Amino acid sequence: MPPAADQGASRRTVLRAAGLTALLGATGVTRAAAAEPAEAGGHDVIVIGAGFAGVTAARELSRGGLRPLVLEAQGRIGGRTYTAEFAGEKVELGGAWFDEGHPHAWKELLHYGQQRTVDQAPEVAFFPAEQGYRAYAPAEGFGRLAELVTPVFDGSKEYFPRPLDPFAREDLVGPLDRTTLIERIDALNLAPVDRAWVTGNLGGLSGGSARGSLTQMAQWWALSDWNYDKFSSATSSRLVHGTAAFIEAMLADADADLRLNSPVTRIEDNGSHVRVTTRRGTTYRARAAVVAVPVNVWNRITFAPGLPAEYRRLAEETVAVPSAKKIWLHLRSDQGLFYAAGAEGVPGIGDVIPTQRLGDGHLAYAFSTDPALDVTDRAQIQASLRRWAPDTEVLAVRGHDWGNDPYARGGWTYKRPGQLTGPLRAVQRPVGRLSFAGSDIALGWSGWVDGAIESGLRAAGQVLGR
Ligand SMILES: Cc1cc2nc3c(=O)[nH]c(=O)nc-3n(C[C@H](O)[C@H](O)[C@H](O)COP(=O)(O)OP(=O)(O)OC[C@H]3O[C@@H](n4cnc5c(N)ncnc54)[C@H](O)[C@@H]3O)c2cc1C
Repeated sequence: MPPAADQGASRRTVLRAAGLTALLGATGVTRAAAAEPAEAGGHDVIVIGAGFAGVTAARELSRGGLRPLVLEAQGRIGGRTYTAEFAGEKVELGGAWFDEGHPHAWKELLHYGQQRTVDQAPEVAFFPAEQGYRAYAPAEGFGRLAELVTPVFDGSKEYFPRPLDPFAREDLVGPLDRTTLIERIDALNLAPVDRAWVTGNLGGLSGGSARGSLTQMAQWWALSDWNYDKFSSATSSRLVHGTAAFIEAMLADADADLRLNSPVTRIEDNGSHVRVTTRRGTTYRARAAVVAVPVNVWNRITFAPGLPAEYRRLAEETVAVPSAKKIWLHLRSDQGLFYAAGAEGVPGIGDVIPTQRLGDGHLAYAFSTDPALDVTDRAQIQASLRRWAPDTEVLAVRGHDWGNDPYARGGWTYKRPGQLTGPLRAVQRPVGRLSFAGSDIALGWSGWVDGAIESGLRAAGQVLGR
């Protein structure tokens, strides 16, 4: 029997309830969830997590004739994509940029008619100098950066000849996968300033060049046609109506029921069916489940029986950058639209990328992996920005601290050494009646929305093929 509150409810009714709940915020409950009986059946598959991986899986499952129920912990869908309003504009607090080279995401956003736009180019770019920072004309600065970064990936055409299949030359990738990014950079014996440029550019992306693997970045490089311009332009095109509109369109295309504010605490596979229990104590029952929550939160859920060793290893090591933060800035500065890159490990924000002029100043965003940075602290952020542009006034900030988000516990995926050739393939396989999805465990564009979609397609295929 479907849950009482769902009987006769159209897909649109459920979505409308979900939208209302999103407006009420994370403490609200969906009308449907509030009226759940102690154990609810009526769905073929339970999808846990409504990020792009979970929503893709739900849509595919419904296309395949199954009836999915999506349980989402928060009061909104989208997970590590998060469209918000700031300074009168739509901004993305998580994933934002898409590129033609992202095969799954590009296909979907064309299918759902998602319009794209590009940001305004910077007028000046600051990079590390022997003392502090120096301003460059952007073409000169980025040209030099390209020359410095490219040799890090020498040999990647050989070891990643087919970038969507990172194991095509596992004989070459295996030994390299033990290397951290900083070990590779240091093997280049760069002058201190050049090293600061390279670690500043790649270190932040990797969540720390001593933490992250060479192979993760090298695979992104290979996926970008082994070319710096494409590598950097993977972050140039964003969606006019936001990632929220994109994922809503995908979900609306699925004949799936959605329960927001339903954090799952226990998943039990008894061999003939799966029982999924939420924090409020509601239990749902189905023939299979797709677990589409970030790897960094796997060990916040009790699995019965327990997960195999490779799953536990990945969850304990963490995959997504544990202290990732993204901050939107409303700035006023005599420098105009300035780009700035910090040396790796500088306190506060690591880099600043402008996007557009506003009536009063301009809009920019910044990343940080500094655990001590408070994304709401305008004064702290202004102080760290002034290392590049001392006249800069921060009028307002809006950020998200992904490491302290209980349903992410990390930002974008960046694997540690050994994770690609170690547990990755094992965790892509189903465990009994459970399939796993998420950009963290994707094969290609892991760390991107594309990887989330890729993994959602795979997980749904596993359930449908069972
Ligand atoms: C700051 C930042 C910038 C990024 N920039 C880009 C970019 O420019 N381009 C790009 O393509 N990608 C980017 N990414 C990566 C991209 O956003 C992610 O790879 C992608 O959104 C992950 O999707 P997912 O479905 O795998 O996981 P998630 O989006 O994390 O979805 C998992 C869902 O599970 C839910 N959940 C967690 N625990 C539970 C539970 N116990 N019960 C029920 N639900 C639960 C979460 O609330 C969430 O909704 C960025 C990410 C970050 C953080």
